[in-house]
Amino acid sequence: MADKLTAVKGMNDILPAESAGWEWLEQQLRDLMAVYGYRNMRTPIVEPTALFVRGLGEVTDIVEKEMYSFEDRLNGEALTLRPENTAGVVRAVAEHAMLYDGGKRLYYMGPMFRHERPQRGRYRQFHQFGAEALGFSGPDVDAELILMACDLWAKLGLTGVRLEINSLGQPAERLAHREALIAYLSANQDQLDEDARRRLHSNPLRILDTKNPSMQALVNAAPRLMDHLGEASLAHFNGLRQILDANGVAYTVNPRLVRGMDYYNLSVFEFVTDQLGSQGTVCAGGRYDGLIGQIGGKPAPAVGWALGMERILELLKAAALLPAPAPVDVYAVVPTAAAWPVVAQVVRGLRASGLRVLMHSAAQDGLGSMKSQFKRADGSGARYALVFGEDELAAGHVSVKSLRRDAQAGAAAQRQLPIDNVSGWAHELRH
Ligand code: ATP
Ligand code: MG
Repeated sequence: MADKLTAVKGMNDILPAESAGWEWLEQQLRDLMAVYGYRNMRTPIVEPTALFVRGLGEVTDIVEKEMYSFEDRLNGEALTLRPENTAGVVRAVAEHAMLYDGGKRLYYMGPMFRHERPQRGRYRQFHQFGAEALGFSGPDVDAELILMACDLWAKLGLTGVRLEINSLGQPAERLAHREALIAYLSANQDQLDEDARRRLHSNPLRILDTKNPSMQALVNAAPRLMDHLGEASLAHFNGLRQILDANGVAYTVNPRLVRGMDYYNLSVFEFVTDQLGSQGTVCAGGRYDGLIGQIGGKPAPAVGWALGMERILELLKAAALLPAPAPVDVYAVVPTAAAWPVVAQVVRGLRASGLRVLMHSAAQDGLGSMKSQFKRADGSGARYALVFGEDELAAGHVSVKSLRRDAQAGAAAQRQLPIDNVSGWAHELRH
């Protein structure tokens, strides 16, 4: 026998027992987007590598070590499986000049790819849902996106999701802070780990984001970006805070909150939970006014967030908040192959009137006994079995049997129904 092939490490199959939860979550998200007036965007999974190198920044975790990049075999083009979708959306918005008649509110969902060490809540193929508002500069839109996420937790029934916010100011303000930070960290060289030493001059802000416990005291006492912000940046941040306060949104200002990508400015935020071990960030985002210009589009402000769908689903599952998938309504019991043409006709008629119908089909050893078919009918969760017995069919009938325990005793438990008038009685099987 040939070797068994398996899925790529860190990439998961989503089987039907789980995909029902995925579909439910996707629908909740679509419904939320509809009430906020956000519209769907679908961009390719493969993009030019340069989009991420230029968009995310060369000295980021993603670009340094997490991208699945390859050369097109035919023309040598440098390509990458998208590690995130903001850059792709921005590319598409610029490419199609979508902002010519004003700002756009957009959302996406789908698989992303990052070559990380697989662990709970961290996979190599994972799924993000993201919302982006492009062409708007005020903190009202930053607030709208944050409120939208808060509404999502409420809609899903999730509790214990905390909000942290910060402002990264503008590039010139970051530069001044960066110099102060490099001076401070250089004066404490001996306390830096290898990663921090490497980043000291390339991306010192990211050092503040370190998860190394032995560096916490050092980064806690580091110069704060907040203290380097000018009037306009502070006004933007305060504008955001006022809207959140007025709407009763609880948050903490975390001056050490920086984001993994270089493209952020002004507002950044994360929604965090303690219920997922160390991979506690469920949704993260911020403003990225420089990104469109950086990838060659006409400069325009923008803000957005992305959430990790696997992490949200894990929370929903742990809290038993995922609804049970709906079973079929009807199971067709098919004693002999001679009934196939009629069975196909009848179940098709039922489906046309909206009933969910599962047809018993032959396995390798045939259709199986009536007893085994009824066992399957019970297992399917269907409320009714339709029995296509030879005698009934000869009389132009099919018999319907209630599979509900409470109905089995009554005289109505089994009835004969005419096969030439399926639509006439189909509605009776709906409840
Ligand atoms: P982290 O610090 O956990 O690596 P990140 O800053 O790289 O996160 P983002 O790029 O902001 O994450 O992605 C937004 C969200 O997508 C994260 O908050 C998380 O919920 C989810 N996410 C990111 N990477 C993964 C992954 N490898 N597997 C599963 N979910 C992920
Ligand atoms: Mg990461």
